[in-house]
Amino acid sequence: MRKITVAKGDGIGPEIMDATLEIIKAAGAKIEIEEIEVGEKVYLSGNTSGIAKESWDVIRRNKVFLKAPITTPQGGGYKSLNVTTRKFLGLYSNVRPCNSFHPFVKTKHPIMDIVMIRENEEDLYAGIEHQQTDEVVQCLKLVSRPGCEKIVRYAFEYAKQYGRKKVTCFTKDNIMKQTDGLFHQVFDEIAKEYPEIENEHWIIDIGAAKMADTPEVFDVIVTLNLYGDVLSDVAAQIAGSVGLAGSANIGEECSMFEAIHGSAPRRAGQNMANPSGLLQGAIMMLNHIGETEVAEKIQNAWLKTIEDGIHTYDVYKEDTSKQKVGTKEFAQAVIANLGKMPSTLKPVTYAKGSALNLPKYKKRPAAKKELVGVDLFLHWNGTNANELAAKVQALDSNGIKLSMITNRGIKVWPEGFEETFCTDHWRCRFKPTEGSAITKQNIIGLLTQALDKNIDCIKTENLYTFDGKAGYSLGQGQ
Ligand code: NAD
Repeated sequence: MRKITVAKGDGIGPEIMDATLEIIKAAGAKIEIEEIEVGEKVYLSGNTSGIAKESWDVIRRNKVFLKAPITTPQGGGYKSLNVTTRKFLGLYSNVRPCNSFHPFVKTKHPIMDIVMIRENEEDLYAGIEHQQTDEVVQCLKLVSRPGCEKIVRYAFEYAKQYGRKKVTCFTKDNIMKQTDGLFHQVFDEIAKEYPEIENEHWIIDIGAAKMADTPEVFDVIVTLNLYGDVLSDVAAQIAGSVGLAGSANIGEECSMFEAIHGSAPRRAGQNMANPSGLLQGAIMMLNHIGETEVAEKIQNAWLKTIEDGIHTYDVYKEDTSKQKVGTKEFAQAVIANLGKMPSTLKPVTYAKGSALNLPKYKKRPAAKKELVGVDLFLHWNGTNANELAAKVQALDSNGIKLSMITNRGIKVWPEGFEETFCTDHWRCRFKPTEGSAITKQNIIGLLTQALDKNIDCIKTENLYTFDGKAGYSLGQGQ
C-alpha cells in the first residue's frame, strides 16, 4: 500500500474528490489515504498560507499529494497555496495533457492530443524585480542548467512512459541567446539520449501560432515557465475541455496532482460538478507511482463513459450526449465501465508497472571562468549618448576602457542613431584594451571614481567567459 496525502479542498472539492477516490479504489489502486485540511477554513482561521505546519509534515512524509481545488479568500494578505507548494517542495515540472474528445465534446480541433510540460520554478517567475531609475524597472529572468536538464529530461521520460512519439521545444533563443539559448542547448543535448523519440525546436511565436491553428502536429511540448503558463491555458481552452483536464506538479522528492479548474463555489453541494479534471490528475498520479495498469483501466473506462454520452451538465449537449448525470452518478458510470474499452476514442496503453525514471541532477565540473569586462548601469537624466560617453570616459584607467553604451539593450554609442529613443537607464560596457586584463579590483576602482565624479551607478554585471565562450550577449546593433 502506498500512502498518499489527500486534501478535499473547498467548493465542489469534497464532492469531486469523493467521486475520484471511489473510482480509483474500485479500480484496485493500492493506496492508503491520509487526509489533511487546506484552503478556506485554514485561511479564515488566521493562517495566511492556507495550510498548517502539521499538514506540511504529512505532505513531506507521504511525498505524493492529491489536491482538490481550494478557494483563496478575497482581500489582501492570503498567499496562493499552489505557488507556495510548488516552490517549497521543488515541484519543477508542470504537466498538463490537453486532448480533444471529438465528437463527444465540442471543439474546433477534433484531432488534438498535446501534453504541455512547463518548467515551474524559475524564469521570470523567480519574482526578482527592482526599480532602478525613475523610468525603468527590471525583472530578472533566471534560467539554470539544473532547471533545464530536469524539465527536459522529464519531458523525454514522460514521452517514453506514455508511448509518445515526439517532443517539441519552444523558446525565443533568437533573441535571448543566453537564457532561452541554454534551454535549447540542453534540449538538444538530452534529446540525443532518446534516439527513439523524435525531437524538434520551434521559435515560440510561430510555434504558438501553429499550436493554436494546427494542434494536431504537436505531441509533447516542453518550454520555459512564462511561455508554458500562457500556452497551457491556450491549449486547454482550444481542446474545448477545460473542465476535463488535470495537471501534475512533479519534483525530485514530492509531487502534487490536481484538476486545472477552481473550486466553482456556486456549484458546490449540488451533486452537479464534473469530477473528470481531478480524476485525470489522479490517473497521472497512479502512473507516477507505478500503478500503471490501474491508471490505464480507469482512463479507458472514463473514455468509454464520455463516449457513451453520460455527461455532467458542463459537457452535456442535447445532440451529442445521451444522459445528464450528477457527480455521483458519473462516478458510478465510470466504475461500471472498468475493464471496458472505448470504441471511437483511442484507448490508452501505458508502459506497465514502472514509475517515471527520473535520475537526480548531477553537478558538472566547474568551467574555467575568466573575468573579461564589466557593464556599469547608470541612472542619468540626459538624452545625448555622446555627452554621456564623454563623462564616462573620464573613468577609463589601468587599460580598462569604455567600449559601448546601450539604452534598453540597443547600442547608442559609438555610432548610435539620433532616432533611438533613450530612457534614463544606461549600460556602459568597460573592457580591457589589447594586452591588458581586468580584475575585480579594477571594477571597484571604476565604482569609486564614479562615486567621486557624481555618476549614479545603480548596478554592475561582470562579463565572464566560461571555457573561453562568452557568457554575455552583445549590444543590439553591435
Ligand atoms: P472555477 O474554475 O472554479 O470556475 C469557472 C467556471 O467553470 C464556473 O462557471 C464553474 O461553475 C465551472 N466549473 C469549474 N469546474 C467545474 C467542474 N468540475 N464541473 C462543472 N463546472 C465547473 O474558476 P473561478 O470561478 O475563477 O474560481 C473559483 C475559486 O477557485 C476561486 O477562489 C479561485 O481562487 C479558486 N481556484 C483554485 C484553483 C486551485 O485550487 N488549483 C485553481 C483556480 C481557481
